[in-house]
Amino acid sequence: MSVPAGQHTVRRHNLALVLREVAGPEPLSRAGVAARTGLTRGTVSSLVEELIAAGLVAELAAERGGPGRPASPLRLDPSGPAGLGLEVGVEAVGACVVDLSGAVRAHRTTASDHRDDAPDAALARLASLAVDVMAEAALPIAGATVAIPGVIGPDGVLERAPNLPRWVDVDVGSALSERLGGLPVRAGNEADLAALAERWAGGPADAIVVSGGIGVGAGILLGGALFPGAGGRAGEIGHVVVDPDGPACHCGGRGCL
Ligand SMILES: [Zn+2]
Repeated sequence: MSVPAGQHTVRRHNLALVLREVAGPEPLSRAGVAARTGLTRGTVSSLVEELIAAGLVAELAAERGGPGRPASPLRLDPSGPAGLGLEVGVEAVGACVVDLSGAVRAHRTTASDHRDDAPDAALARLASLAVDVMAEAALPIAGATVAIPGVIGPDGVLERAPNLPRWVDVDVGSALSERLGGLPVRAGNEADLAALAERWAGGPADAIVVSGGIGVGAGILLGGALFPGAGGRAGEIGHVVVDPDGPACHCGGRGCL
């Protein structure tokens, strides 16, 4: 049976609506989702069945004790699709698996100094760590994002990383995707991703998250969205001069932050 395109769009929209309610802080039953979305209970039940079949939503056992028929609360399915988080640091690589409920299911870091390394060696170590955490978590992995301490252009390619001098114009996402059997991998600046993580964990919509390790960077949030700035360079505050007579910096300036 063919279905008009408009119906598919409406169904997708309604699936997203139901999923958003289930992901909210308050546990809701099917009836609760219907009340909050304005959809009929029959429609909500059919959408919930589809989300359960896709492994995105789980229905818990009914809670007894209250008046009326007991309701079964819905929640995001922690055994459903999970995300893989990866990081290239100056002195370490890290990998973790986070499930739909936001819980970290596996996490490992390995010391490895990349200051003098070509990217290949570090990416091979990171890919091997990723395989380890994916095996440990044993969840279906939907995709990955890799955090890098450098400037990522709008095309997702690392342009340069001040403390990784040999990492110039590297498509880190594609290189890792190839090593991970074609898993989709996106690349982002580590401070930008830290700012987004703070926001998604309930942090303020307007904020500057400063990340200080070997280098100093910042992620800027405006109205809950990341502010990339010209060419993705917003928050590159490490080489702002704070003392013109300060110590020499490897960038050629003096007194950098
Ligand atoms: Zn500098």
